[in-house]
Amino acid sequence: MRRRAAGTTGLQRKSAGDESLEKTGKTEKEWKEDLSPEQYKVLREKGTEIPFTGKLLHNKEDGVYVCAGCGNELFLSEAKFDSGTGWPSFWDVASGESVELKEDGVLGMKRVEVACASCGGHLGHLFGDGPKPTGKRYCINSAALEFKKKKK
Ligand code: FE
Repeated sequence: MRRRAAGTTGLQRKSAGDESLEKTGKTEKEWKEDLSPEQYKVLREKGTEIPFTGKLLHNKEDGVYVCAGCGNELFLSEAKFDSGTGWPSFWDVASGESVELKEDGVLGMKRVEVACASCGGHLGHLFGDGPKPTGKRYCINSAALEFKKKKK
């Protein structure tokens, strides 16, 4: 994808949003306009929502969880489980194109960040203490997700 013409400032600083700009052609200003403040904080600023507050934590309906930023299919309801952590948790991704994993060294803790493979938006973190069959626990912010209910 071609990069959108740089604005009128002429100056382009290398920032965390750069990779996303390359992926989506969307500037941080545009993201801010398109997302709710809570979605922006999580997806674009790697924020973490307060546990047990997310709208999708207890959702048990059949369907697909997509990226709130770009609509990319991320997780299926079949792989959702109650981890007791207060964040929606999944033991697998929807497909090989769903997420991208990155090492996250914030605060000296080594964690694996989970980001949307399509728009680069921050989703949450991956841990190794999930249930069978994968043993993985994708710990995901509700604010980064939208739920598409399966049509009957
Ligand atoms: Fe996305």
